[in-house]
Amino acid sequence: MPDNLDGSTMMRRKDRDWRPRTTAVHAGEGLDPATGASAPNIVMSTTYGVDSSLGFSAHDMADDAPFIYTRWGNPTIRQLEEKLAAMEGADACIAFASGMAASMALMLGRLSAGDHLVISDASYAGTAELARGTLTRLGIQVTAVDASDPRNVEGGLREATRMIWIETPVNPILRLTDIRAVAAVAKQAGAELVVDSTFATPIATRPLELGADWVVHSLTKYIGGHGDALGGAVLGRKEAVRDLSLESGVHFGGTISPFNAWLIMRGAATLPLRMRAHADSAMRIAEFLESHPAVKRVIYPGLPSHPQHDLARRQMDTFSGMIAFQVADGPAAAARMAEELRVIHYAVSLGHHRSLIYWIGTDEIMASSFRLSEEQLARYRAFAGDGVFRLSVGLEDPDDLCLDLERGLG
Ligand SMILES: *Cc1c(COP(=O)(O)O)cnc(C)c1O
Repeated sequence: MPDNLDGSTMMRRKDRDWRPRTTAVHAGEGLDPATGASAPNIVMSTTYGVDSSLGFSAHDMADDAPFIYTRWGNPTIRQLEEKLAAMEGADACIAFASGMAASMALMLGRLSAGDHLVISDASYAGTAELARGTLTRLGIQVTAVDASDPRNVEGGLREATRMIWIETPVNPILRLTDIRAVAAVAKQAGAELVVDSTFATPIATRPLELGADWVVHSLTKYIGGHGDALGGAVLGRKEAVRDLSLESGVHFGGTISPFNAWLIMRGAATLPLRMRAHADSAMRIAEFLESHPAVKRVIYPGLPSHPQHDLARRQMDTFSGMIAFQVADGPAAAARMAEELRVIHYAVSLGHHRSLIYWIGTDEIMASSFRLSEEQLARYRAFAGDGVFRLSVGLEDPDDLCLDLERGLG
């Protein structure tokens, strides 16, 4: 039976008793019943031999249906989905070809013309542009609020609000949102709460336990962890995920390649250990930057100087590996970094074993992505000033990273 390909039916029953490191290694996997292989196979097949009696629409498919066509379901992708669901403490998961495909599937799968979305006024730029551009064009109303104060979320609600979308820590300024408090607002409003938890990962924060309805991840970042595969995931309650997978998974067609699913599954197995190393190094480097004369301000949730450090301690089990910092002349420093850095790559993205750094100017990102009100902009500048370097601390020796930053800062 294809459904038993991973051979882990018996192990799966125990998944929820495992501690995080065991879950990350074993959930969704098991000895291959045909060969005894210990490592998962990659099943690249797009189609599967089936009984002639099976239907031709995804709507006819039962939960325990055999594999038919890879856009509807694939053994390798399913293994990844089971591992991620176990790590996040979710009933179910759908993997997608990228984080943006996951976000789009959730927004377009759950919202219709006339519905209203409240979204964090800062977020991953692609998410901001999708909400303000595409959703608005399709007749979905969008209100952006500074979600770091739950009263702003409450103030943004309307009769038609169906979804609240937050990201914590938020890209690129590492401002936090109190998930439990916003979940209470969402519940009262009868709206669903979505948390983009890419920066936190399930090792730091499990939003579903705090009352969120959905979690979104870009698997391209920490969960894959090696900068070699795009992927995304949506996690939530069983029935809701099933509804979403029929339309947004099967019909939108943003299916992840089984090869990428396999790479990301391999990365996910070491996530708990990697996050500990990312966070330890990030703390060292945040302290180094805070004491460096060329650095004006460091924003890292693990530092006592972070304005929401108390919330970070309540809501995050590790402070993750992302640091934002300000210098006097960002664009000039960016040019120097791109030239001088020998270990850290001057590049976008984050969460990889290689350290990455990138300058994000406030005026630039306002013009392209966020378009904030004056009051919101003032609150954004309270974190970012004229802009921040977004540093993704990798798994290199932190002493080498400090030396490299010293060189880059001049
Ligand atoms: C990168 C990222 C995304 C988009 O993910 P892709 O895999 O690049 O499509 C969404 N949200 C956050 C917070 C991200 O960092």
